[in-house]
Amino acid sequence: MLLVFDNKLAIVYLCSKKYDMKIICIGKNYLKHIEELQGHEVPENPVFFLKPETARLNNNLPFYYPDFSKEIHYETELVVKIDKVGKYIDKAFAHRYYSEITLGIDFTARDLQRKAKAKGLPWTASKSFDCSAPVGSLLAKNNYADINNINFKLLKNGIEVQAGNTSDMIFDVDTIIAYVSQFFTLKTGDLIFTGTPQGVGEVQIGDRLEGFLENEKVFDFFVK
Ligand code: MG
Repeated sequence: MLLVFDNKLAIVYLCSKKYDMKIICIGKNYLKHIEELQGHEVPENPVFFLKPETARLNNNLPFYYPDFSKEIHYETELVVKIDKVGKYIDKAFAHRYYSEITLGIDFTARDLQRKAKAKGLPWTASKSFDCSAPVGSLLAKNNYADINNINFKLLKNGIEVQAGNTSDMIFDVDTIIAYVSQFFTLKTGDLIFTGTPQGVGEVQIGDRLEGFLENEKVFDFFVK
């Protein structure tokens, strides 16, 4: 047990020490995912929340299943890395603020989130815990003809469990950047998780998770 704890601590330290950054996550950005969570209303503006830098998990390091939950869900999402400082960014110029993208997982302790929602309480703990944001290897945005038409998928133990296309986003990347930059200064290195399509589901200890942006594998790690 002590060894596991030490590994966990080492991973959090390794993944966050280099970074002075924040992770902005968009919720409810795909209609079919909103429906699968039982008919939440379609938002008028992007809905967002934050994860701290200690949520970041890199380099295919394992994700340790946390003790406080019995229902950890994967949410596979396109991730955009901000590479320029900006505030009140106009949508027309938003594309100048990022040049690399990848996939990430917005791990969610669904049991904790459900309890918090039922009581009308904030659900930060269910979303923003250590290592809740594995991030794949970054790829040049210019590899893709249109960022608003990229296929991505998640394999769990070699079987496709989630697939999406960024054209199904309710709010596209540039709209998200314009909106959130009204509230937060975006800094170099910040990451934006752009929301999950339908098909979220549970992980168990021992699962292998592989993420693909089109045909490129960007992450491959185990749940321990
Ligand atoms: Mg999400």
